[in-house]
Amino acid sequence: MEQGLPIREPELTSKGAYYIETFGCQMNVRDSETAAGLLENCGYLRAEAKESADIILFNTCCIRDHAEKRVFGNIGALKEQKEAHPNMILGVFGCMTQQKEVAEKLYKRFPFVDIVFGTNLLSKLPQFIELAESGGRTLAVDENNITIEDDLPSIRTGRVNAFVNINYGCDNFCTYCIVPYVRGRERSREPRAVVAEVAKLVSEGYSEVTLLGQNVNSYGKDLENASFAKLLSLVSTVEGLQRIRFMTSHPKDLSDELILAMAELPNVCHHVHLPVQSGSNVVLERMNRRYTRERYLDIVGKLRASMADVEITTDIIVGFPGETDEDFLQTLDLVEQVGFTAAFTFQYSPRKGTRAATMENQIPEAVKRERLHRLNELQQRKSRENNEKYIGKRGIVHIEDCDTRGEEPVCYGKFSNFKMVYVPAPPEMVGRYVPVRILNVRKNSLTGKLEEL
Ligand code: SF4
Repeated sequence: MEQGLPIREPELTSKGAYYIETFGCQMNVRDSETAAGLLENCGYLRAEAKESADIILFNTCCIRDHAEKRVFGNIGALKEQKEAHPNMILGVFGCMTQQKEVAEKLYKRFPFVDIVFGTNLLSKLPQFIELAESGGRTLAVDENNITIEDDLPSIRTGRVNAFVNINYGCDNFCTYCIVPYVRGRERSREPRAVVAEVAKLVSEGYSEVTLLGQNVNSYGKDLENASFAKLLSLVSTVEGLQRIRFMTSHPKDLSDELILAMAELPNVCHHVHLPVQSGSNVVLERMNRRYTRERYLDIVGKLRASMADVEITTDIIVGFPGETDEDFLQTLDLVEQVGFTAAFTFQYSPRKGTRAATMENQIPEAVKRERLHRLNELQQRKSRENNEKYIGKRGIVHIEDCDTRGEEPVCYGKFSNFKMVYVPAPPEMVGRYVPVRILNVRKNSLTGKLEEL
């Protein structure tokens, strides 16, 4: 995923304009919001495009090989721009450069890059910029010191939904994943800090938030008397807050207490992103996921028994080392049984430094590709079936944005349970909660018409 941040016209009084390109997950999007806040505090304003920027930052991801290659390609492509504008500042940060070896390689390979630093040094960005303004270069990676700084300024990306970090890092060491090595051990923010941030966001006009963590379900395990369900209860009391989303949930930590909280708290959305990764117990074990397909299906059953309208999305990896045809069929079978709203599907790609990268029986690319194709075909059918059950139904959509390029403006937003809905409506509807009757389905969304309140 790659996202540009909303645009503001640089003012004459600003020091210049910045552009941040973000790769990876919502945690990275949130970090880019903080980077934007820090840069604006330094007097820079957002640029409309890379070409007109005085500072260009790449916030990188290292989960997939593909993302890393794209970052290298994007940096290389800026060499000419930097030569034409030697005062332009180029920086790279994020999960990729949290790995010392990669950061050093990048720093050497691209001498025209001014700043290379790891995610956990984000608060030092103003100092790095100051040094770059006077011609100095920075290479800064601190693999040990990971502090949580709650009070850094930030410029929010979402027009109607704001991201709020609740915990950082991950203790799970899934054998394919680099995150625990680059984001460190799990640390939870104090509940009062989370609630205060949400209350501030509401006072600024947000009525929907997404609570973020690599594994929100284990929130509070490093605090006294705290759990994610308890945090949800606290956050739900913030006056004016209409929708609370959260991401990502690890199945092994999804408790009955949480399901109850979701069902009972009126402003908690009935959507869970619950990565299953594989439908085979043998593969799940090799992935170190610490749940079985039976446990996963049990959670799905409980969620649906408690919330009739709950929607479940997932992540699936195909071609994990040692995955047999039978293992893969187990995944297809699970997808058939669960009927996910949507699935983010990936071919396994080895990440250096992870256990799975050195496992035997790596699967040939052609086999991975073929499995991915079969999985995607199945998921498309399941998504369509899932969408079709909404035809004729009515729900409340929180309008996120409006596309005014066509003959008539089309607004879009989500039902509480994450279903994306498109509806012909004027741009003034953005930010409002409107009733919509569903008339038709698209591949990954619903279309409908506005109804009277
Ligand atoms: S839970 Fe597993 S996949 Fe998710 S961040 Fe942690 S180690 Fe990675």
